[in-house]
Amino acid sequence: MNKQYALVTGASRGIGRAIAERLARDGYTVLINYNNNTAAAQETLEAIKAAGGDAELLPFNVCDGQAIEQALQLWEQQHKGATISILVNNAGICKDGLMVFMTEDDWHSVVNTTTEAFYYITHRILPGMLRARNGRIVNITSISGVIGMPGQVNYSAAKAALIGATKALGKEIASRKVTVNAVAPGYIVTDMTADLNEEELKKTIPAGRFGKPEEVAALVSFLCSDEAAYITGQVINIAGGLA
Ligand code: NAP
Repeated sequence: MNKQYALVTGASRGIGRAIAERLARDGYTVLINYNNNTAAAQETLEAIKAAGGDAELLPFNVCDGQAIEQALQLWEQQHKGATISILVNNAGICKDGLMVFMTEDDWHSVVNTTTEAFYYITHRILPGMLRARNGRIVNITSISGVIGMPGQVNYSAAKAALIGATKALGKEIASRKVTVNAVAPGYIVTDMTADLNEEELKKTIPAGRFGKPEEVAALVSFLCSDEAAYITGQVINIAGGLA
C-alpha cells in the first residue's frame, strides 16, 4: 500500500506533538511541522520512530506563504506522486492582555498565526485532496473562539475566524469526500498554559481538571478515520464541560 501522509503544523510540542504521535500510531507517515524549536521537533520524531511509526521533519513558519511554498515544493520533488491526505492546522500562539493595552503586534501576530496559516497551507494542500477525492482537514480552534474569553480578544477573534472557515469550507467540498472539522479544546496541559494558575482555574471546569494533549489527539484521530466520513463542517468542544 502507498504511504499515507499526514501534515501536522506545530507538531514539535504540546497538542501537535500528541496528534503527530497518535496519527503515526494510526499508520500515517507524519510530516512534523514546527517553526524554531528543532530540538523539540526531533524529540517528536524520535518518539514516533521508537514506537515503530514513520515521520519526517518539515519546518516552516505557517505565516509565511513563500516559505510554505518552498518547503512543500521541495518535499514533492523528493516524494514523487505522494499526496497529503490529512492536514491538521494546529500551530498557534497567544499573547493575552486587555484590549485597551493590546499592541498592533499582539493583534496581528496572534490573528495571522491562525488565519493566514489556515489560508496558505489549506489552499496549497487542498487541490491534491480534491483530485484524490479523499482528505481530512482538522482545524485546532479553541473554546475561546466559541464563547469568547476576556483578556483574549485577539485569540478569540482568530479562533472564531477559523470556525467560520471550517463551516464554509466543509460545505464547499463535502461532495468531494474531503471533510473539514474544528476541534475546540478548553484548558490543556502544554507550554501554552504553563503560566496559568491551574489550581484556581480547575475550580471553574465541570470535570475538575485540565485536559491532556492525548485526549485531544484521540478526537482528531477519530475525525481523520473512515468512520468519520459523514461528519463535516462541525466544531467539537473538548473542554471538560466548560463549553
Ligand atoms: P504550544 O505547546 O505552545 O506549541 C505550539 C506549537 O506551535 C509549537 O510546535 C510551535 O513550534 C508551533 N508554532 C507556533 N508558531 C508557529 C509558526 N509561526 N509556524 C510554525 N509553527 C508554529 O501550544 P499548544 O498548547 O500545544 O497549542 C496547540 C494548538 O492548540 C494552538 O492552536 C492553540 O491555540 C490550541 N489550543 C491550545 C489550548 C491549550 O490549553 N493548550 C487550548 C485551546 C486551543 P516551535 O516549537 O517551533 O515554536
